[in-house]
Amino acid sequence: MSSFTILIKSSSGGCYNVAFDIATFKARRDCSAGMFGDFCKHLKTFFEADPSLLFQEDQLGDFTRICKALKNAEIHSAYAELQAGLKDLDRQKRR
Ligand SMILES: [Zn+2]
Repeated sequence: MSSFTILIKSSSGGCYNVAFDIATFKARRDCSAGMFGDFCKHLKTFFEADPSLLFQEDQLGDFTRICKALKNAEIHSAYAELQAGLKDLDRQKRR
């Protein structure tokens, strides 16, 4: 089994389901951004390996497993490049 469903905190105090498949790196989310296929903070939390939005602490093991798999995947370097590009753009705007 390569799919894990992790509960990620929502800003309203509830949570959203993020079903992450570490074989295909597809993540299904039931937040509004996820339903439109947009990137959002619930997905970002996996890319950043930031457990602060975990709704259930006992999911830390699965969360860490996903983050590690993601870190080794090509999609993560694309994400890192994008973040660096956005930072650069932001710097240029402030000049
Ligand atoms: Zn989301």
